[in-house]
Amino acid sequence: MKVLAYENRKSPLTLYDISTPEKEAAAYLRLFKELDGYWQCYADLEEVEEPTPCEPCEAKLHKHCTGSCSCVETEECKRTNREYRPLYLKAKAGDVAAIKKLMNSRKTYEYENVWETELVDPLIPEEEEVEA
Ligand SMILES: [Zn+2]
Ligand SMILES: [Zn+2]
Repeated sequence: MKVLAYENRKSPLTLYDISTPEKEAAAYLRLFKELDGYWQCYADLEEVEEPTPCEPCEAKLHKHCTGSCSCVETEECKRTNREYRPLYLKAKAGDVAAIKKLMNSRKTYEYENVWETELVDPLIPEEEEVEA
C-alpha cells in the first residue's frame, strides 16, 4: 500500500494512506495545510506588494536571498522568485498537482521532509503486493 510520509525534528513520523487517488489528494491537501499553517514552511513565498531585490541580493549575497525579492540573478533566486511562488499560490488554491510539485522540489528544506513509500502487508505474498 502506498503511503505519504512526513517528519521533522520536532514532530514524529506521520504516515498518510495514499492507496487511492481520493486519499492521495486528501493527504497532500492536509499535509500542505499543516506545512503552510502550523509549520510556516512557505513564509518565504508569501506574496509581496512590489517586489524589489532583498538586502542580501543587493549586496550580491544571493545565497542568503530572503525570497520576498524580485532578484533573478542566480538559479537559486530565480527558483524562489519565479518558480516556487507561483506554485505556492496554486497550491494554496487547492491544486494537488502543484502541492506535489512544490513539496517534491523542497523536500530537502528543513521542516519539509516529505516522501512516498510502501507500507507492506505481511499477509499478502510478495508477488501480489507488487502488482497491487
Ligand atoms: Zn539574488
Ligand atoms: Zn533576494
